[in-house]
Amino acid sequence: MTDTIFGKIIRREIPADIVYEDDLALAFKDVNPQAPTHILVIPKKPIPRLSESSQVDSSLMGHLLMTVKKVAEQANLHNGYRVVINNGVDAGQSVDHLHLHILGDRPMKWPPG
Ligand code: 5GP
Repeated sequence: MTDTIFGKIIRREIPADIVYEDDLALAFKDVNPQAPTHILVIPKKPIPRLSESSQVDSSLMGHLLMTVKKVAEQANLHNGYRVVINNGVDAGQSVDHLHLHILGDRPMKWPPG
């Protein structure tokens, strides 16, 4: 498996504005925010994308969603927020390490671009 910039963030080899960490997950602010609040939640396990996860990752996937909830509460996103997973080329995924975007503190449009 190839390493990514997010692997370097997990290992503290490059800096990031980390807002949450536990044994399985890390959350940090996106370096190029698309909303006033833009946080990425990632597993420490280097799963490249959702479509490459497997049955053994089921509880980890649940943990990531619960981490999103916790981080959103911590960020005071009481008016709502959007959770996005870009999976693969057509979705515009640019970092091959699974990540859940939390976008908040502005109204969101639908459908997304
Ligand atoms: P994707 O397009 O793959 O769904 O999202 C990748 C996200 O990672 C982008 O929103 C991008 O701004 C963010 N990103 C890329 N490199 C870094 C980095 O080195 N640090 C941080 N904090 N975010 C990054």
